[in-house]
Amino acid sequence: MVRAALALCALSLTAVNAFGVVANNSLRRLHPSIQRHLSRAAEEISSGNDERGVVLARAAMVPRQIRVSFSFNGVRSSRKGMLLEQGRRALKSWNDAIGAEAFVEASGRADIRVIFQSEVYQGSRRVAGLTSVSRGYNSRGDSWVAGEVAISDRGVNGAELTGAQVRKILMHEFGHVAGLDDVGSSSKTMGSVRSDERHVEVDEESKAALRTLQATTEALLSTASAPTSRAPVIFKFPN
Ligand SMILES: [Zn+2]
Repeated sequence: MVRAALALCALSLTAVNAFGVVANNSLRRLHPSIQRHLSRAAEEISSGNDERGVVLARAAMVPRQIRVSFSFNGVRSSRKGMLLEQGRRALKSWNDAIGAEAFVEASGRADIRVIFQSEVYQGSRRVAGLTSVSRGYNSRGDSWVAGEVAISDRGVNGAELTGAQVRKILMHEFGHVAGLDDVGSSSKTMGSVRSDERHVEVDEESKAALRTLQATTEALLSTASAPTSRAPVIFKFPN
């Protein structure tokens, strides 16, 4: 059995200065650092610092493409095929949910390195997954995200996780990569992993939050006078 202690997830993002409060409910599903990026972008643009505002808004957006590599550290050879399959299924689920091929598996250089490990720790605390990403935007106007996702192969009692559990952790961590925050309910993509985890997909709340992120950043960019010819986001959200 997988205990609740494994149902912990941790995330660190490049710190930005705290500023303002975002009121919209969907935006509250976004990670606090993304909310702060948006608040600060709005403040900079309304103060006439359009270029700074555009940088902040674009850094909050989900990039056009996120190259993801998979590797293993201390995982039994017989597990690797299953883990890789779950990783690929998680990428596909996210792409299906957002209506774009945003997450792409890369064999070489990657934006996000997914490392399957037998155990994952945040400090001394055992966690199911750990995502650490930085965000920004380059001189060509493209948003980028870079970092690492560690996925545990085993529960706190040492037993290997089921495929559905591993995929839930992957789906959850990719949600963090896209900018989502944790939620309390284990039935949600951004909730914890269950001992009887089964069907895992991107829930409507997560999609709504990313739609709101896209709409908010587009609205901010449209009000700025700085050049905004390249919109880095391509999420389509067909539903
Ligand atoms: Zn989490």
